[in-house]
Amino acid sequence: MTQAAHAALGASGASRWLNCPGSVKLSEGYVRAPSRFAAEGQAAHWLAEHCLLNDKAAQDFVGQDWASPEGGLLVWIDQDMADHILEYLSALGRLRETADDFEVEERVTLDGLWTASGDKPPAPMFGTLDCGAYYRNEKTLTIIDLKYGKGIAVGVEDNEQLWYYALGKLLRLIDQGEKVLSVNIGIFQPRVQGGDPWKWSKVPAIDILMWGVDVLKPGAEATVKPNAPLVTGKWCQFCAARAVCPELAKLAVTTAQMEFDHKPPRPDTLAGDVIANILDRAFVIKMWLSAVQAYASKAIESGTEVPGWYLKERRAQRKWTDDGEALGALLSAGFKKDDVTVNKLLTVAKVEKIIKKGGFDLNATFGQVITKTSPGTTLAVGPGHNPGSRFTPTDPGSDFDTGDDDETDNTEF
Ligand code: SF4
Repeated sequence: MTQAAHAALGASGASRWLNCPGSVKLSEGYVRAPSRFAAEGQAAHWLAEHCLLNDKAAQDFVGQDWASPEGGLLVWIDQDMADHILEYLSALGRLRETADDFEVEERVTLDGLWTASGDKPPAPMFGTLDCGAYYRNEKTLTIIDLKYGKGIAVGVEDNEQLWYYALGKLLRLIDQGEKVLSVNIGIFQPRVQGGDPWKWSKVPAIDILMWGVDVLKPGAEATVKPNAPLVTGKWCQFCAARAVCPELAKLAVTTAQMEFDHKPPRPDTLAGDVIANILDRAFVIKMWLSAVQAYASKAIESGTEVPGWYLKERRAQRKWTDDGEALGALLSAGFKKDDVTVNKLLTVAKVEKIIKKGGFDLNATFGQVITKTSPGTTLAVGPGHNPGSRFTPTDPGSDFDTGDDDETDNTEF
């Protein structure tokens, strides 16, 4: 796998550093702890790239472990991952056959925004574009980003990370004399429940180029200015400096000061706007508390004492080292095959993938043998709502003035 290098002003952090210019300096020396979710995403990207470039089938890797270069986490490549990557690669395969210019895992840079006027960017600015395909006759660029997370559904509209990639690719094509008119931006996020795993947005190329000049370039330069401001918002969730950020701590402490005479009220006695207020406060406090917990774990791991707290071993997960060998050993010991193996119908989602290839529509053909049950609902932050904004002095609806200069916007969560 191409080892990912991280730029301080890279694409994946664009939402954060554009909104909170001071985060770049404050994050120096801090790295986000390796997570299982990030490792799964890296493994999926590795599998896709490896299969595409070496003409391999994702299915052949099922059952193998993939070790993340950062943190050494092991990811088990399972059937679901192979199925998702198969769907992703079949879309990429169609682009590869028809596009005039096709690249995967392409490193794009934004240096061109500065070099045209003889300047250079304040820090290296690059990112890795999962897939880019250019159609010369149509003057259209298609870019695709593979997202393997399953917690937060990533929106495709006005997505700074994807616009960063598109801009880098556009600058290269323009440099080669191409005249691009429009950009199709796609996200494939197969593990988020409900809805289409593919999301698309079509944007005039000029809009992305103007955004580069009017927003991204001054935004990058703002990060190296003395006293670049710290600005809290939903982007704090992904900031490596969360545990040491004075602005986030201040916001958490002030929002924690509830106005209920030190006695929590019964939820069923509260009006809707009061409940919304409490949920907004809880969102900010939880964000800060989780940063403190992660920071404490790292501190204890490196020998710092946190009175009353320790790191407890997680329960080890067991799996057969080799399925065939294990089955052989069990049969030799006298167990029957039926006692230690299962033979059952695949899930509806897996069968749908298989029969789709044969041209069948699952619902039309087998709808009568399928029962749909909703797993219920889950509480979520609404589109356009930023819980942090409720407590800023600029919010006229706030019942709590922090007395600081927070600025937040309401981009989609
Ligand atoms: S935690 Fe939030 S406010 Fe603090 S530096 Fe990071 S992004 Fe900025």
